Amino acid sequence: MVDVRSELRARTPRSREIHERSASVLAAEVVSTIDMPHPFYVAEAKGARITDVDGNEYIDLTMGMGPHVLGHAPDPIIAAVREAAPRGLQVGIHNPHQETLARLLVEAAPGVEQVVFANSGTEATLYAVRAARAYTGKTRVGIFDGSYHGVHDVVLVNPHRNSPREAPVPHPRGAGVPQETLDHVVMLPYRSTAAFDLIRKHRDELAAVLLEPVQSSNPRLDHIDWTQELREVCRECGVLFVFDEVITGFRLAWGGGQEVFDLEPDLAAYGKIIGGGLPVGAVGGPSEVMRVFTMDRRAQAQSGLEPIRPIFTGTTFAGNPMTMAAGAAQLTYLRDHRDEVYPYLTEQGDRLCHEINAFCEAEGIPARMMNARSMLHLHFGKEPIESARDIDPSFREAEREFYLHLLYHGVIVPGVHIGFVSTAHTPEDIDRIAEAAAQSFREIRERGLI
Ligand code: PLP
Repeated sequence: MVDVRSELRARTPRSREIHERSASVLAAEVVSTIDMPHPFYVAEAKGARITDVDGNEYIDLTMGMGPHVLGHAPDPIIAAVREAAPRGLQVGIHNPHQETLARLLVEAAPGVEQVVFANSGTEATLYAVRAARAYTGKTRVGIFDGSYHGVHDVVLVNPHRNSPREAPVPHPRGAGVPQETLDHVVMLPYRSTAAFDLIRKHRDELAAVLLEPVQSSNPRLDHIDWTQELREVCRECGVLFVFDEVITGFRLAWGGGQEVFDLEPDLAAYGKIIGGGLPVGAVGGPSEVMRVFTMDRRAQAQSGLEPIRPIFTGTTFAGNPMTMAAGAAQLTYLRDHRDEVYPYLTEQGDRLCHEINAFCEAEGIPARMMNARSMLHLHFGKEPIESARDIDPSFREAEREFYLHLLYHGVIVPGVHIGFVSTAHTPEDIDRIAEAAAQSFREIRERGLI
């Protein structure tokens, strides 16, 4: 049997040199979610391919954790960046690209009338929480088990391992999140009507409930009715319903989760795709709620609505011209080609999922690929999962080794193992990924890991 570790080491001497050298100055190589099956460093990324500093080529199924829906370095985005850069990297004072990008967001999502830009999905959900608190005068935030909303304190909570599924107890996700943060959270059970009872019970404390249309740890689309009911329960309780579209915005459909789930949230958080590959975040919603972002009291008065004390926002790089131009180029392309782009992404995502699951079923492999259109996640275990809490930890080693073998066969899916199909993946690429997965399953089975 091939020793894939030694083979990969032999193929990547320059990467190894960087890896060993950089350990003294980098506390973590970027972030924990980019834990690599085997370290390599990217020299170039184009289309669906990444080339490392040793000249090895991989099919990339990560696509920057979601933003590169048109593949790496697509012509319209590179052209927009080339056009914007020589005009200066001015930040702070407004530029016209901001309106262009805001109009594209407003056009795509019927519930979004106004937009505020930020630099990341983390900032977007942080602003959404602060805005909801200011708007409702309440403090607590409803967070679902299995969710991910970025790295600010109030969203960095997990259900305590031993707490009941229907009444999960919050637990800080990692060190450094103050214990008091937990007082600000109501932990909710995902895809359960028990969540509705908890929201009703805490209606006088809850400012907002945050929900990803599709959890990246558990991609599926069989909870549309539940989500619509959740939205209504929030309305009934005076709790703002915040749809975290950082991944799903412009990925599931041109109108994102809001189109697929056929609902209008009180606030929507965006990131990833809307920046065309550059750092970005945004919050959008109806003017009625978005006025909490309006510092200008005269503008508030002109809106004819009750004045409200605004929240403080403002970061140096938000709305910078490079991101705005790249994002506008990507969204313009998606809008103009939506009738080809989204059916293609769905078809290829469904096909990859089907191929891998058919192989696993035929071979009795304890793994299952889940997908919501072009968002994919492979789970190891004998039972299908209902929520991320069901993920079977006894397959951790098998999972890690599977991705190492997959890399050996030329496909990269690092870290938290979320897969994203882009328009740059050809049907042949999808076949190659499915073949590489089948081969990797066979090899880890030979090694006795499954
Ligand atoms: N919300 C969701 C649903 C995400 O998936 C992520 C990141 O993956 C975030 C928020 C945070 O975004 P960022 O990594 O840009 O801070």
